[in-house]
Amino acid sequence: MPTEELKQDATHYLMHTYTRQPLSIVRGRGTKVYDLEGREYIDFVGGIAVNILGHGHPDLVQAIQRQAAQLIHASNLYYTEPQVKLAQVLVDHSFADKVFFCNSGAEANEAAIKLARRYSHDKYGAGRFEIVTMKNSFHGRTMATLTATGQEKVQKGYEPLLPGFSYVAFNNLEEVEQAVTDKTAAIMLEPIQGEGGVYVADREYLKQVRDLCARKDVLLIFDEVQTGMGRTGTLFAYEQLGVQPDIMTLAKGLGGGVPIGACLATDSVAKAFSPGSHASTFGGNPLACAAGLAVCRVLLDGRVLDQARRMGEYLAKGLSDCKERHRVVREVRGLGLLQGVELDMDGKVVVSECLARGILINGTGEHVLRFVPPLIITHLEIDRLLDTLAQIFSKQAA
Ligand SMILES: *Cc1c(COP(=O)(O)O)cnc(C)c1O
Repeated sequence: MPTEELKQDATHYLMHTYTRQPLSIVRGRGTKVYDLEGREYIDFVGGIAVNILGHGHPDLVQAIQRQAAQLIHASNLYYTEPQVKLAQVLVDHSFADKVFFCNSGAEANEAAIKLARRYSHDKYGAGRFEIVTMKNSFHGRTMATLTATGQEKVQKGYEPLLPGFSYVAFNNLEEVEQAVTDKTAAIMLEPIQGEGGVYVADREYLKQVRDLCARKDVLLIFDEVQTGMGRTGTLFAYEQLGVQPDIMTLAKGLGGGVPIGACLATDSVAKAFSPGSHASTFGGNPLACAAGLAVCRVLLDGRVLDQARRMGEYLAKGLSDCKERHRVVREVRGLGLLQGVELDMDGKVVVSECLARGILINGTGEHVLRFVPPLIITHLEIDRLLDTLAQIFSKQAA
């Protein structure tokens, strides 16, 4: 179906919740996607940090095909091997001892919020349920997670919000210290704020927050939905930031494109959930977990994580050089292959111009470009991006 026709039908049949680019993607291969006319695009969006192995990775495709033929779904009334194996891999390679599987980032955070409340309730009784989150954060679109999200535009019109949340400035120790009271159950934050514009947490700040949590038996929740699964050059971002949480959430990259989310926790925290206290029909289904296992195996054989680290450094360096040469670039921020560029101009213009030149990039907020390509992105492709940005910025200045 031609793009224009598809767009008309989309307008007719779909609820209008997204602003979309005028592009219909029909196929993907590696770091590239293709439209109806066979035009090729280098994919620096990667399904928004989802397609970490790129498109059509043979190990992932084979794992999905095999599992689909064997068993797609069985219910958590029974044991299925892929679910247990994926949990084992995640536990073996993280601070966590236990995993709960669900289907998205919002659901993973929903589980984290429920777990934190339950832990606090069981240990300290009713009334100690508050969760401190960060301004400019993003945790999802369910009622609990949009309440946790420190952005009015995500909450507007959905009041009344869930009680028991307060918001503090990111990277501000004094504010978070003041916000923690005897009613506080947890502090929740993204090690790097992704949707909010790519802001990296300071190591010293995180260390102090960790100490604060330990002193007050307040749980520390890291939302690694975007930063997890090799995005920053290590399997999880917290490994580089020198601090371990009590609860961590994953989604985006975990299934390499197949929907799956996970809430991980230490044993003492995870004990707060018991049979019947939380559940998900689809959560941890064999198909999604087989995909997750394939993704983990490819990542953990080392080469892809190394590549992500090296390409992340290369991209960051290239963007910094770009900042030296072009006055419209105000700041470059990020870690590994989660990089953001703050501009003195409308980001949407750059997104459109890149699209016209065969490169997919994403803007977050009005002035920030976000680069979250597959972890298999190459030097040559990064060079193409940098050249293209240079052209667009030069034209802007002229
Ligand atoms: C994308 C994202 C979410 C929400 O994930 P969904 O799968 O869209 O529900 C939550 N937290 C962070 C940090 C994210 O980047």
